[in-house]
Amino acid sequence: MADIVRTRFAPSPTGYLHVGGARTALFCWLYARKHGGQFILRIEDTDEARNTEAARQAIFDGMNWLGLDWDEGPDVGGPCGPYYQSQRNAVYDRYFEKLVAADRVYESEGAWRFRFERKPVTMHDLVCGEVTIDYRDESNTPDMVVKRSDGSYVFHFVNVVDDLEMRITHVIRGEDHLMNTPKHLQLIEALGGVAPAYAHIPLIQNPNGSKMSKRDQGAAVGDYPRQGFVAPALVNFLALLGWSPKTEEEIFSLDELTQRFSLEAVNRSPARFDAEKCAWVNQQHLLRMSAEDFAAAARPYVEKESLDPGPQFVAVAAAVQEKVRLLTEVPEAVRFLLEDAFPMDEAALEKVKAGGNGAAVMGALHEALAQVGEWTAESAKAAIATAAGALGVKAGQMMFPLRVSLSGKAGGPDLGVILTLLGRDRSLQRIEQLRQRLS
Ligand code: GLU
Repeated sequence: MADIVRTRFAPSPTGYLHVGGARTALFCWLYARKHGGQFILRIEDTDEARNTEAARQAIFDGMNWLGLDWDEGPDVGGPCGPYYQSQRNAVYDRYFEKLVAADRVYESEGAWRFRFERKPVTMHDLVCGEVTIDYRDESNTPDMVVKRSDGSYVFHFVNVVDDLEMRITHVIRGEDHLMNTPKHLQLIEALGGVAPAYAHIPLIQNPNGSKMSKRDQGAAVGDYPRQGFVAPALVNFLALLGWSPKTEEEIFSLDELTQRFSLEAVNRSPARFDAEKCAWVNQQHLLRMSAEDFAAAARPYVEKESLDPGPQFVAVAAAVQEKVRLLTEVPEAVRFLLEDAFPMDEAALEKVKAGGNGAAVMGALHEALAQVGEWTAESAKAAIATAAGALGVKAGQMMFPLRVSLSGKAGGPDLGVILTLLGRDRSLQRIEQLRQRLS
C-alpha cells in the first residue's frame, strides 16, 4: 500500500499570517484532502528573538477563518508531537548524534558544520522540474553550520529532521526554499532517511512585479475580514494565485477546489496579486450566498456602523446583495432602507432639478400612490403608470426622480423592492419631502 499522503504547513511566527503563507497552507491542505491524507501544522519557532505570541495567534486565527483545519498540530496534538519546534530539542539532539556517529559533522569556530558529499545533487521538483547543485565546487558550497556555538540548531537541520520524524510525504512550500532543497537532500541522505516529494510554488508579486512583502497592501490575512471579505472568497482567490483551474470557470468553493486541485496545474511563473480581482471574486461569492447567509454575514458590518438591522433585514440585505463587492459596502447601501435620515446625493438631485417638472412629478406620484389598495410592488408600479398618464409623461421618466426621493441615490435596488421594503407611509413621506424641496 502506498504511503498515506502527509503534508505540512510550517510557518515561523515572526509576523502576521501573510497571503503567501496562507496560499502555501491552502495548497498543502488541498493536496492532503484531495488524496485522503493528513495535514499537519508545525510551528517553526526556534528563533526566540523574533517569535511573538501575537504572531502565533494570527496563524491560528487565519487558518481557522479560512477553514483550513489540521489533523495534527497545536491544540489537536498527534503522534508526532510536540508540534512546536521550540519544544523538540531532544529530537534534534538525537538526530545530531546520528550525524556525529556517521562522522558527517565537525567543529569549526565553536559551531558544528555538516560535511557535504562532494557530488552533484539533483532534485526533481513537482513544479519547478530538475534543479541541480554541484557540491564538487566547494568554494560555492562550503560545508554548512547545523549547530551554532550556543547549541541551537539551524533552520535547515530542524526542518529536515521534522519532515522525517513527521513522515511528511510531500513538502509544498514557497519557491524561496527551492535552492535550499539540495542541502536538505544531503542531510536526509546522511541521516539515512527517505526524502519527501517537493513542490515549490511560485512567489506572489505586487501588481508592479516586485516581490510582495509583509508591508504591502493586501498582505495580511487578518485584515481581510474587517475589509469585508468572506473566507471562501479569499480561499478561492489564493487558489487562483499560482494554480490554474484549466477551465473558463474561476469561482469555486473549498470542496470544488479540493476536487480539482493538482500540483501539475500549479504555474511555474510568479503570480501577480490583483486587489481588484480579489474584490471581484468576493463579489461572486456574495452573489452565490443564500439570502439568509448573506444577511447573517452582512449584519455585523451594519451594526458596526450603528445601524439597526431591524426585523426585515434578510429582505433588506437581499435588496443590495447584487450591488456590493465587499461586505463593508452594505451599511451605506442599505442605510436609506433602515433610517429616514439618509444622505441625498447632490448630483442626483441636480439631475432631477434639471428635469424641470420634479415637483409636479412628485405631486402626481403622491396622489396616485396614496390611492393604492393593497401595497405591493405591482400595485405601486401600476400607480406610477397612472401618475405618468395623468401628467402626460412616460412612466420611465418618473422612475429616476422617484428613486432619488426614496433613496437619495441615482442607483440601487429595484424600485419595486424599495417601495415594498419602505411601505406606503414612508414612501409617501419621502415623495412629499422631495416635492417640497423642489417647489
Ligand atoms: N519556517 C519556514 C518558512 O516559514 C518553513 C519552510 C518550509 O515549508 O519548509 O519559510
